[in-house]
Amino acid sequence: MRVLILGGTGDARRLAEVLTAASAGGSAGSAVGRPGLSVVSSLAGRVRSPVLPPGEVRVGGFGGVAGLRAYLWAERIAAVVDATHPFAATMSASAAAATTELGIPLLVLRRPGWTPGDGDRWHWVPTLAAAAEALPGLGRRVFLTTGRGGLAAFAGLGEHWFLVRSVDPPEPPMPPRLRTLLARGPFTLDAERELLREHRIDVLVTKDSGGAMTEAKLRAAGELGIPVVIQSRPPVPAGVPVETTVAGAARWLAAVRGA
Ligand code: NAP
Repeated sequence: MRVLILGGTGDARRLAEVLTAASAGGSAGSAVGRPGLSVVSSLAGRVRSPVLPPGEVRVGGFGGVAGLRAYLWAERIAAVVDATHPFAATMSASAAAATTELGIPLLVLRRPGWTPGDGDRWHWVPTLAAAAEALPGLGRRVFLTTGRGGLAAFAGLGEHWFLVRSVDPPEPPMPPRLRTLLARGPFTLDAERELLREHRIDVLVTKDSGGAMTEAKLRAAGELGIPVVIQSRPPVPAGVPVETTVAGAARWLAAVRGA
């Protein structure tokens, strides 16, 4: 049985690890652990030096729904796990459409979103444009962790100063007053607290990515009384089952295999 993991997240990598170990005989007895499981992970190719999952990896877009459908057919894919980032809505929609057309089982593996603690001041917004609109009333020194692709929404804010953290350098259009910090998580609470203090940040802008690796900035902002503007997640495509853990996704695959 050939399984496609749509990746770009730590959970996608961990699922590939679990499945490749299992197919090598690591968890004999479970349906996933039976020999004959082959896994291919797919990356969009946006990050210059990605942390690669074990096993077979393909890189680059498929060419929309039609391209993905052709790929699934040609590669004889029997199940797909969409473990893309919660904001990769185009890829998730393509996966739902192509698998429905071919009758291939699809699972979304998506870690839970974040929730505010007592006293936290979080402002939920539907888009980054709405986040940019909310900023003037909230602060002037902004810590922006929405990914380098989302800077255009803030390009018109000439009065604000931005500390932008991303894995690869951002590209224009971007705000005129900006400092870039190239870094990849995990980030600790101590380091995040220090970063906010050092740069005299008075508002944090982020997306509801979820996960422990990048959550500390929210806790640090809460401790320092800094407001947070947070973009809500797009919905999962209708009718697609969701698991929130790698173990849950492995169980789903075992059930598909055993069916
Ligand atoms: P997106 O808007 O949903 O996808 C745009 C296009 O990129 C898709 O239509 C597809 O091209 C291609 N693509 C996306 N994910 C792919 C994958 N895993 N394998 C092959 N092609 C893929 O996605 P995005 O928000 O630009 O994110 C791109 C990648 O970065 C995703 O894999 C995601 O998991 C990861 N990522 C995203 C974020 C974020 O905040 N959005 C954060 C961290 C990591 P075709 O139509 O040609 O197939």
